[in-house]
Amino acid sequence: MDSVKTICPYCGVGCGLEIFGAADKRRVRGDRDHPSSQGLVCVKGATILESLERDRLTYPMMRSSLTEPFQRISWDQALDAIAARIRALLVTQGPDSICMYGSGQFLTEDYYVAQKLIKGCLGTNNFDANSRLCMSSAVSGYIRSFGADGPPACYDDLEQTDYLFAIGTNTADCHPIAFNRFRKYHKAQGDRVKLVVADPRRTATAEVADLHLAIRPGSDIDLVHGIAHLLWQWGAIAKDFIIDHTEGFEAYLTLLKDYTPDRVADRCGIDRADLETAARWWAESERVLSIWSMGINQSAEGTAKVRSIIDLHLLTGQIGRAGAGPFSLTGQPNAMGGREAGGLAKLLPGYRLISNAADRAAVEQFWQVPTGRISPREGRDAWGIIEGLERGEVGLLWIAATNPAVSFPDLNRTKAALQKSPFTIYQDAYYPTETAAYAHLLLPAAQWSEKSGTMTNSERVVTLSQAFREPPGEARADWEIFAAVGRRLGFGAQFQFGDAAAVHREFVQLTAGRPCDMSGMDHDLLAKGALQWPCPRDRPDHKNLTKRLYEKGQFHTPSGRARFSACDTVGLAEPPDDDYPLVLTIGRLYGHWHTQTRTGRIDKIRKMYPEPFLEIHPTDALPLGLVDGEPVVVRSRRGVAQFPARVTTAIAPGTVFAPMHWGFLWADGAEANALTHPAVCPDSLQPELKACAVRVERPEKMGDK
Ligand code: SF4
Repeated sequence: MDSVKTICPYCGVGCGLEIFGAADKRRVRGDRDHPSSQGLVCVKGATILESLERDRLTYPMMRSSLTEPFQRISWDQALDAIAARIRALLVTQGPDSICMYGSGQFLTEDYYVAQKLIKGCLGTNNFDANSRLCMSSAVSGYIRSFGADGPPACYDDLEQTDYLFAIGTNTADCHPIAFNRFRKYHKAQGDRVKLVVADPRRTATAEVADLHLAIRPGSDIDLVHGIAHLLWQWGAIAKDFIIDHTEGFEAYLTLLKDYTPDRVADRCGIDRADLETAARWWAESERVLSIWSMGINQSAEGTAKVRSIIDLHLLTGQIGRAGAGPFSLTGQPNAMGGREAGGLAKLLPGYRLISNAADRAAVEQFWQVPTGRISPREGRDAWGIIEGLERGEVGLLWIAATNPAVSFPDLNRTKAALQKSPFTIYQDAYYPTETAAYAHLLLPAAQWSEKSGTMTNSERVVTLSQAFREPPGEARADWEIFAAVGRRLGFGAQFQFGDAAAVHREFVQLTAGRPCDMSGMDHDLLAKGALQWPCPRDRPDHKNLTKRLYEKGQFHTPSGRARFSACDTVGLAEPPDDDYPLVLTIGRLYGHWHTQTRTGRIDKIRKMYPEPFLEIHPTDALPLGLVDGEPVVVRSRRGVAQFPARVTTAIAPGTVFAPMHWGFLWADGAEANALTHPAVCPDSLQPELKACAVRVERPEKMGDK
């Protein structure tokens, strides 16, 4: 092997990688030709090869109850067992008793074949993915404000802006290569370019900010509307843009009048002068770019938060231009591909909606399934699957490429619900994982490097992830497993794909003429280099002609205008009180990825982070007698966890922080999500993983209650 170009399978930055060297001495480096990463790579991408052969699941295994050991079975036995279960459930409980929970780690081809099987053939929309926990509020916000999903900006904007407003995102740790591009530019530009970071923690991102607004958890909308109020007061708004390209301004303006600077500063817990500085820099900047990720999305008012950021850009006409726009950063490597392929319970491929009869009819016709086969009911969202298990309404749960026994909120309740599942299929590359403990049937999946397909990053760039090694044992690509089950259930005509390229060829036809048009792409073309959508079939040179969306101020709403939201804030779903006086916020570390399924198996990364921790401000730690490095107990209304204390002024008083990466395989009793609650945004159904009320105690009290 000389070299193979591919994409990093971790975060939504989507860095290009180049794998080179002989099979027994393969090495990895950044792909200098990749438009998003330009040859850069972080520690996760740089160490990815170390994780590929450790603790792999290599053949199917089954057991009849969770208390029994697994027994090896053949693929035929496994597929027969799944098909028999599904057939029986279709008769006894109906299609809505079947649920699949997938992953932004899927390739787009995996996502697409799963949608065809679950929504098109079985007739239930119970497909959801871990993207629900990551960015579904961004999806809802874009759809409501612009009439369609799709981040309008691109990474080049990080090097062309005058003002980067980073709210609810620790980009330096969680999207390091995208942030590196901005950091270099910011440094080179001296005082001219401003970085404002709004975050209760002094994160690595906040460390390099010109202004850090350590706002209280849950006060994001206050801050954003407070900036908008000042801009309106100063007349620093884009009147022509508002008149020509938006609707709903009057209601928004009425709402803004209540967000006075003193009220906002008080609610956010910041100085009025800092609020005014953030607004003044916005007013003075020619080009303003906002970025956000889970600090905004993981909230019971996540959609409203996203829309308030978009409102601010509409108010000032900061969209559709170089260096400007509201830009959500996706966590997962292919959460964007999932959105394009219809991989959430309310979506269909090609940015179509389950709730739209014409969209359902178009997809049914394309898939050649009977009219009415796609249910008009939106499927179960992630937490809805747990509630369905609790009520005995789920007869088969199929989990693939994700680890909900660590990543779901309210873990004690989640695990109790998983215990009740009559039949859980768990399809993953690794074994053991925490979720495998709740499975009846284990299916070995091929992972990155062992299967080909596409991924789309946060800036709509599609990269071919190329296979360069064989899967271990009997592992198979996820899409091949879904297709094999489809054929066993009698849908032979729908699942005759020879390879992943054929799946892709079919999928992109469903995007033709849609906002995410990829009909001009195929695997052969993508093997020559990554491409950004929209990329229609008739585009002559397949080069990136539309780096930014909405350059002409034309949106996908019926009127063609973007909509102001006028969303008032409701604050935290579980505010602190006398019994639980602190707010716990959870997050990610630079080197680890999600639940450590991969990164926990890489020595260098494990050494970087030997244990979890709880950040607590000295103001909160000292009265409790907590000592840096010693264990502390954290309790919420739902659970308890124990971490070594990290007493630091990097966290605001009243707030504590714990990383979310440690499940029970990697540390005893340090599951941050044992504490979190499952309240969701009513629009996006994304849980508020970012904030819950807790109290902190010394360990001797652990057995008290
Ligand atoms: S920034 Fe993200 S995509 Fe890039 S190398 Fe690191 S983990 Fe991979």
